[in-house]
Amino acid sequence: MVDTDVLIIGAGPTGLFCAHQLGIIGLNCEIVDNLDKLGGQCIELYPDKPIYDIPAIPECTGEELTNNLIEQIKPFNFKSHLSDRVQEIKNENNKWIVKTLKGKEFLTPNIVIAGGVGSFEPRKFPIKNCEKFEGKSVLYSIKDKNIFKDKKVVIFGGGDSALDWAIELSKNSKINLIHRRDEFRGAQSSVDKVKELEKEGKISLFTHYQLKNVKGSNNLESIEIEHDNKELKNIKTDYILGFFGLIMQLGPIVDWGLNLDKKTIAVDTEKFETNQKGIYAVGDICSYPGKLKLILSGFHEGALAARACFKLARPNEKYRFEFTTSSKAIKNRLGVKE
Ligand SMILES: Cc1cc2nc3c(=O)[nH]c(=O)nc-3n(C[C@H](O)[C@H](O)[C@H](O)COP(=O)(O)OP(=O)(O)OC[C@H]3O[C@@H](n4cnc5c(N)ncnc54)[C@H](O)[C@@H]3O)c2cc1C
Repeated sequence: MVDTDVLIIGAGPTGLFCAHQLGIIGLNCEIVDNLDKLGGQCIELYPDKPIYDIPAIPECTGEELTNNLIEQIKPFNFKSHLSDRVQEIKNENNKWIVKTLKGKEFLTPNIVIAGGVGSFEPRKFPIKNCEKFEGKSVLYSIKDKNIFKDKKVVIFGGGDSALDWAIELSKNSKINLIHRRDEFRGAQSSVDKVKELEKEGKISLFTHYQLKNVKGSNNLESIEIEHDNKELKNIKTDYILGFFGLIMQLGPIVDWGLNLDKKTIAVDTEKFETNQKGIYAVGDICSYPGKLKLILSGFHEGALAARACFKLARPNEKYRFEFTTSSKAIKNRLGVKE
């Protein structure tokens, strides 16, 4: 069993920054995430998209933000356990025993739940045949937009992700955008841009169509789409991208006796503690009056939860507030040479 001051569930931006704050105040932690990489939504859903509201960083992509957060916690050598899900928690003698799906066990006085929207999964095409191409030519997120250069791409969906990627990829690829309605949920400016690109012949737009079939033996070759009136259309393509949003499931978290409020966990705003002592919730997963589901809010919440963890992890010590600019102890922890 791994003994740790804090177990962080979720390695999105909030979990990563919370780990930094724990390191700064001299606590150790272990991080578990069911994705195969660190970064949460930023890396899984929009690695290439620019973010414009991280304080003091005018513009950075989801991937750049993640890489910087990882760089920032490097001095602490915290261990992360990826592709594993926290399944079960149990209290014994005022400590939490945490078990993962893969059978790892942790003993800790503090659990920080930074689980975002839960163990999230993209909503997929309901066509059985798609599974054999999934991850190769049937994709639900984009990790490297360069693979689409000079290729034929069909994008499904009517929200911001579908519109934004159609606009972005139309710079270098032939794009068909398919939506089952003729109204789009995305920003009006993006809808206008797509229509402009359609007029310029850069995007072909098909509304009232849905995916009916995918064809190809080893590689995807074409797809069949069906109109409301049952008319079928065949489109040759190298890739199909589905942007139908996420299925947000809290998964095992719902069974932990926490105060849930519409798929989020209610917390106080002093320590971000839940109704269970020693369990905190931060980032998108927590709720309190005025909560903003933004990365910057997650950073603040993680910083306060980290300080709250100190009390249970070091019951015989007093937490001292210090600035990173002037604290010798913090600089030592960061390995800064003066
Ligand atoms: C397209 C898009 C654009 C966005 N743009 C912006 C923007 O411009 N500015 C901004 O501030 N915000 C933006 N956001 C929102 C921002 O990404 C989220 O607020 C942020 O990712 C929340 O961070 P988090 O760490 O709380 O959760 P997440 O990033 O969701 O990470 C949570 C992690 O917890 C893991 N997890 C959950 N349950 C378990 C479990 N039981 N065991 C193990 N792991 C678990 C998940 O796998 C996930 O990796 C955007 C979101 C999207 C989708």
